[in-house]
Amino acid sequence: MWIYSSERYVLPLPPGHRFPSPKYAALRRRVATLAPERMREPEPATDVELCRTHAPEYVADVVSGALDAAAQRRIGFPWSPEMVARSRHSAGATLAACRSALEHGCGINLAGGTHHAHRGWGSGFCVFNDAAVAIRTLQAEGRIVRAMVIDLDVHQGDGTAAILAGDDTTFTLSLHGRRNFPFRKASSDLDVELDDGTGDRAYLSALHAALRVALDRFAPDVAIYLAGADPYVGDRLGRLALTKDGLAARDRFVLETMAARRVPVAIAMAGGYAADIEDSVDIHATTIAIALGIHGLGALASGRNPLPRVVLDSTDE
Ligand SMILES: [Zn+2]
Repeated sequence: MWIYSSERYVLPLPPGHRFPSPKYAALRRRVATLAPERMREPEPATDVELCRTHAPEYVADVVSGALDAAAQRRIGFPWSPEMVARSRHSAGATLAACRSALEHGCGINLAGGTHHAHRGWGSGFCVFNDAAVAIRTLQAEGRIVRAMVIDLDVHQGDGTAAILAGDDTTFTLSLHGRRNFPFRKASSDLDVELDDGTGDRAYLSALHAALRVALDRFAPDVAIYLAGADPYVGDRLGRLALTKDGLAARDRFVLETMAARRVPVAIAMAGGYAADIEDSVDIHATTIAIALGIHGLGALASGRNPLPRVVLDSTDE
């Protein structure tokens, strides 16, 4: 499996900006010690790829710097050529991670998960919707028919849900904080709303039930997993109370379940705003370590996957 990362993920921003840009450099360094031989530089998403998901006039405004002040405020970044490059490379990396997943069982983007980006506008630090761009491109190429998005970032994947709404070839699952951003939620195929302060046990129980329902209803050719680090108890924006162990159990459950069902998985990092940035990096790095443990030998693609089938009820409370 391949892990995609770019130096362009580190966006230069004004001092005091809330977006944790240094997280991406720290995560890149951490993964370079974990699995340097698996790291790859992604290609940027092209205009054709972006316009399968986004309105052409929106893509043109982003690329040319014609976004007005309100559109930039909604995104949360001041426009810059670096912002465009970051957004293109991140979308390209999730597409590349999907290609790796189809070939080797798994692929990872060390950014991505920009799920608040809608067809015609960006929001909440999200410019282009990388998951939707990847799905639409693979469908257009005839590589896949059906795709599932498993969005476990603490915020609802409203942009993804809206873009893929009413489409029988896609299934969107989102577990998120009921009282958290976005305050006007979209309708995913399956939404699970969690109360403030939800901890490991209640979260994992809800996840087990939701993923079982999703996979009973829909058999995907590929899944994109948004492994947000922001359900963490120490996250500044999360409002939930998962521990690092709880988040590791979450990742293991999702990745083992998909491996047991022979569903290729691309992983995007999504959010993570811990007061100490190293905590978010720890959580993301653990996701990658778990994926390497399951897929490190390309076991899924070669049919040598040694994992037992996951029994979904075994740890339900
Ligand atoms: Zn988030």
